[in-house]
Amino acid sequence: MIGDGMGLSAASAAMYTQARPLNLEQFSSIGFHKAHSSNSLKTDSAAGATAFACGVKTYNSAVGLNPDSTVCKNIIELAEAKGLATGIVVTSTIPHATPAAFYAHQPLRVFYDLIAEDFLASGIDFAVGGGKRYFDFRDSDDRNLIKELEQKGYVVRSFLDEDLGEFTINSTQKFVYFTNNEDPLPVMQGRNYLPYASRLATTFLEQHNENDKGFFLMIEGSQIDWAAHANQSDYMLGELLDFDETIGEMLEFANKNRETLIIVTGDHETGGVAINPKSKRKRLKIGFTTNDHTCSLVPVYAYGPGAELFRGIYENTAINRKMRDLLELDKSSGLFGRD
Ligand code: MG
Ligand code: ZN
Repeated sequence: MIGDGMGLSAASAAMYTQARPLNLEQFSSIGFHKAHSSNSLKTDSAAGATAFACGVKTYNSAVGLNPDSTVCKNIIELAEAKGLATGIVVTSTIPHATPAAFYAHQPLRVFYDLIAEDFLASGIDFAVGGGKRYFDFRDSDDRNLIKELEQKGYVVRSFLDEDLGEFTINSTQKFVYFTNNEDPLPVMQGRNYLPYASRLATTFLEQHNENDKGFFLMIEGSQIDWAAHANQSDYMLGELLDFDETIGEMLEFANKNRETLIIVTGDHETGGVAINPKSKRKRLKIGFTTNDHTCSLVPVYAYGPGAELFRGIYENTAINRKMRDLLELDKSSGLFGRD
């Protein structure tokens, strides 16, 4: 679970706006990762997510590539190859940088049409997010990737059909649901699907993995970052609490399931968020030092089997290695020498 741009001060602010503890406070194994990219102390979401997805530090703006621009294998590809079910649920567009790093390989994050094409080859079983237009009203060609997904056996639905909550899901078929043509709305403007879609993803993926090999699911609270870029604290808090509600759904699933590890982190800090003096509970004086990303260490919260491995201070790429070790993916390939 990636809270894009969710640093320690943002999480603190979310805690102090609530009367009750956050779901995040149930996590007992806490660590920090170093988010810097291959070419800068300041990472962007493309390089940050590539570190989680592939286990390599790459240059800012690159999606699923090594720093020499060769393709790096991501954890979803490894999981698919081993027969695990896979999914992504995001509050950005599906081809946005963070989710893209988990299925695409492109030199620039803004190549949305090409990233959408890479989605077709990914084998991802369940996806919910915005950006329908990169699939059916494309700038670069007249391909209809929704038709192509259907030809590959996907059920594809969108906000133009039924509401996600109305949808009776058939877990034998792969499923994509578009929540918007472009970016999904902020929570403040009525978006509310992340907790529900994430719960639906666990139900679907649990049923979809035929041989009981398990699943890998990436959930992103994408707009925490966008709010912090805009230095809008109410927007940011709304996104943080939505993300925390989603964490609560996942904890409920994991507590029943007993064999699911949940990892929550940010790809980097955004905004240089500060909780300034004279703040009071629920009346915080939130300040920002920048409208960009900052270079602080980012907290990692883990819960479930293997959670203790996430204690300590390590590179962001180590999160990928720890996940692969726990899932016993590609132990012998030697492709991933760079933590
Ligand atoms: Mg993102
Ligand atoms: Zn950002």
